[in-house]
Amino acid sequence: MESYENFPIWIALLSILVAISIYGLGVYILAGFGIWVAVLYLLYCLWLEVEVLRRSCVDCYYYGKVCGLGKGKLVPLFLKKGDPKKFAEREFTWYKMLPDFLVFIFPVLGGIVLLVRGFSWLLVILLTTLIVLSFGGNAVIRGQFACKYCKQREIDCPAAKAFGGKTAGKQTF
Ligand code: SF4
Repeated sequence: MESYENFPIWIALLSILVAISIYGLGVYILAGFGIWVAVLYLLYCLWLEVEVLRRSCVDCYYYGKVCGLGKGKLVPLFLKKGDPKKFAEREFTWYKMLPDFLVFIFPVLGGIVLLVRGFSWLLVILLTTLIVLSFGGNAVIRGQFACKYCKQREIDCPAAKAFGGKTAGKQTF
């Protein structure tokens, strides 16, 4: 299965749409505790995006290119190109994934507290959509569109290995 030198723009846009939808649902749900909680959550999500650019994208094969997650073209605007060798050398642990998981854990826990305080079907729908997008949406984006055709995964990618994918030419997706 051929990997993309530059991903079709619709895949990058789809990934960005899913990410923004998850952040937007989180902000809307946590606004139930007051606007300052929603703002803090949004700042947390922005910090996480900057961390991905700083720690991964600078060393990635898709630096300056259209990648499956839509950040490759963005990173040269803020950060100088790093060293591709460092990308494969990165240590990947589930503990290091925790900040990513908190993006949906915060609004889900917050939503449950708000539901206990006062039941609303709207909140149930928002929470269900958030969980489906966070698990199903991300799984489809990465499994069917992004990682499946990613040159960096072919070269070597600790995250792909951790999720059971193989790198260095052999693929299992
Ligand atoms: S594939 Fe991942 S690490 Fe590479 S530029 Fe895109 S978002 Fe960054």
